[in-house]
Amino acid sequence: MSRALFIVDVQNDFTERGALGVEGGDAVAERISRYLDAHADEYAVIVASRDWHHGDDDNGGHFSAAPDFVDTWPVHCVGGTYGADYDEVFDTARVTHHLKKGQGKPAYSLFEGVSDDGETAGTILDAHGIREIDIVGIATDYCVRASALDALGAGRRVRVLTDLIAGVHPVSSDAALTEIAGAGAELAPSAG
Ligand SMILES: [Zn+2]
Repeated sequence: MSRALFIVDVQNDFTERGALGVEGGDAVAERISRYLDAHADEYAVIVASRDWHHGDDDNGGHFSAAPDFVDTWPVHCVGGTYGADYDEVFDTARVTHHLKKGQGKPAYSLFEGVSDDGETAGTILDAHGIREIDIVGIATDYCVRASALDALGAGRRVRVLTDLIAGVHPVSSDAALTEIAGAGAELAPSAG
């Protein structure tokens, strides 16, 4: 078995009750939990990322008091706070690797994350001989997009499960999926 599941940024601040909640985030968190119940055994590794920012600086210009919601954002996912925790309805029991990204800088891709043991997505993929990656999570137009493009760039076969993602803006989410598909990823609904 050489398949990985990447679960991108399913955190309280990115779902409905959060600082930067996307519409449909909670529903996606629930569906991902159900998907894991049924399909976790199909994956060699299940890697989840969390945006994990500093609370005492603007994280390299990532935070702004007047955010444009493209390159700058309201304060979100400050490490160690409720907002940075995994979403309440996301059951993380089957997650095998936990990555944190964005400490002091913008970091959209799961590939920028690092575990408490110093592992990265790259080292995990190599260590487990992973050839295929399924990607789910939040947000389609930012961190899912960046993670999918990096996964393709790492030479893996990539599938984005389209019922298990939620985006910030509908137009940029559609554009992101078109871009991801054009780069070689498969877009498909989850098997259930
Ligand atoms: Zn962030």
